[in-house]
Amino acid sequence: MKVYNFSAGPSMLPEEVKLSAQKDFLDYEGSGMSVTEMSHRSKWYDAIHQEALASLRKLMNIGDDYDVLFVQGGASQQFAAVPLNLLVKGKADYIVTGNFAGKAAKEATKYGDCVVAASSKDKVFTYIPEGVKFRDGIDYVHITQNNTIFGTRYTDRTFPVADCPIVSDMSSMILSEEVDVNKYGLIYAGAQKNIAPAGLTIVIVRKDLVGHEKDYCPTMLSYKTQADADSLYNTPPCFAIYMAMLVFRHLLKLGGVKEIQKINEYKAKLLYDFIDNSSLYTNPVKPEDRSLMNVPFVTGSDELNAKFVKEAEKAGLVSIKGHKLVGGMRASIYNAMPVEGVEALIAFMKKFETENK
Ligand SMILES: *Cc1c(COP(=O)(O)O)cnc(C)c1O
Repeated sequence: MKVYNFSAGPSMLPEEVKLSAQKDFLDYEGSGMSVTEMSHRSKWYDAIHQEALASLRKLMNIGDDYDVLFVQGGASQQFAAVPLNLLVKGKADYIVTGNFAGKAAKEATKYGDCVVAASSKDKVFTYIPEGVKFRDGIDYVHITQNNTIFGTRYTDRTFPVADCPIVSDMSSMILSEEVDVNKYGLIYAGAQKNIAPAGLTIVIVRKDLVGHEKDYCPTMLSYKTQADADSLYNTPPCFAIYMAMLVFRHLLKLGGVKEIQKINEYKAKLLYDFIDNSSLYTNPVKPEDRSLMNVPFVTGSDELNAKFVKEAEKAGLVSIKGHKLVGGMRASIYNAMPVEGVEALIAFMKKFETENK
């Protein structure tokens, strides 16, 4: 059965990419081996690794003054790696706009004087704080660019103004819209939402921030270890990197991030406009701060929400149940979700609304 998968992560991958991977699976480019079983020091894997790194640089327009690292441990591992590598003066400020932002802030307190400079908890994380003031003499400000559970995102209006590097968790929006990498000291993202299967984590770090890790920083968490070894210090997640390479190829063919951004804006507008004009569904997020990737919505009754999730599943609209912190539903409409998937969801929502008046 054909389904549209609205999972927040791991999530959909482009059909074209899955077909290429299927075609290559048993015998990668005449090697007689699958990428899942070949040496990470082989010439075949090396070509994959280098193409993936180069394509990401091209897609995000990353300058030579940045290192691009492929690591493991998920975005959650970066909650520790960031302070371990970047705390030199020993202080950092965090903006807490949701669950993951809160976890990042909490983890950082283990390694230095890290505090919450602002939070949107007062309104159940339905907005992004503006005009936040930071302490003097901090090493960095940490933000979560898109809040996967609560469905908010940073825009130019809310982007922090600080005279220190900005560190951003881009797990649930990387490559979904254009960003100016030069505005950041460090960007990190788990790949399993917008890039590849789980197992790969992307770190983009300004070179002057590399090499200042604490002496007790684990070797594997040091950005210098990974940068010096071109992310081949130990066995990388080869298959996830191979899938990322295919996704990058697919995006480049499409015309890059600029083009996918237009599609993402179109999909999100369709869904938000429908929700805002409906008498059954609501989305609680401040309109200017709404995510392009994760759209939470509710019907106003737990019973109807549960019925919605159950019937949607039967109609092939799967994994649409909201996170337990928010309840209701959440449609994650990452890059790989086609416009038709959003249209099918809206058609189902209309029908459900009529049947449950
Ligand atoms: C999913 C997610 C995480 C956690 O990612 P893992 O790779 O599972 O550790 C962290 N931050 C954000 C914004 C996320 O969406």
